[in-house]
Amino acid sequence: MRNINKNYSSLKSLAIMGGTFDPIHYGHLVTAEAVRYKYNIDKVLFMPAGNPPHKEYDKITHSEHRYLMGVLATATNPYFDVSRMEIDRKGVTYTIDTIKSLRQMYGEEIELYFITGADAIKEIFTWKNPEELFKLCTFVAVTRPEYYKEELIEKVKTIRNEYESKIHFLEVPALSISSTDIRNRVKNKMPIKYLVPESVENYIYKFNLYI
Ligand code: NAP
Repeated sequence: MRNINKNYSSLKSLAIMGGTFDPIHYGHLVTAEAVRYKYNIDKVLFMPAGNPPHKEYDKITHSEHRYLMGVLATATNPYFDVSRMEIDRKGVTYTIDTIKSLRQMYGEEIELYFITGADAIKEIFTWKNPEELFKLCTFVAVTRPEYYKEELIEKVKTIRNEYESKIHFLEVPALSISSTDIRNRVKNKMPIKYLVPESVENYIYKFNLYI
């Protein structure tokens, strides 16, 4: 029953929206749609992180919850899907393994993008095999408007010059919404209405997440 309706063979471009998504919110959804439209991308695949190397796993909400909230949030957009690839992978999950698997599955011709928060991209030289990653996909670093950009712009320049890689930078006003703020709001019994889709809001309360 997995992979129903997920024939990607005709796709020319695929964007991977990487993140912890704890929880997914409207900022993520608006960002994915903005990038899809701007770069004319055929499909956006949300990729909830499994066991990322830089995080204490037991401090993140169970991957099944994060995956299911992703499914609920993206259900009404035909261009969006959610992948179990990283949450089902055993051990520590690295982006390079994900991108390589997707290349193998969908061939050399497909154009791959990796969208994620600028904070994560700033640390990209600490990731596994960054040079190989730059060759395999185009990066889109997204930020909230109040973000301190100078350091990021410098890093993007270095990556572009040294690795001849494609890396874009996009400011998304909706990213004023943050997962950390949503978790704090739930904990403090403040409303999260209009920050997350209603289905995600209901899911959070049903399973007593973030209290
Ligand atoms: P994070 O530390 O949770 O997030 C950093 C910042 O970026 C937060 O402000 C977060 O806001 C924002 N953000 C994260 N994902 C976003 C997205 N898709 N769109 C918009 N904003 C986003 O970062 P992370 O989630 O752990 O890591 C991001 C991605 O990089 C993941 O796919 C992860 O697997 C990958 N990564 C790979 C390696 C490696 O291969 N070695 C190392 C580090 C990260 P919110 O909290 O509101 O989302």
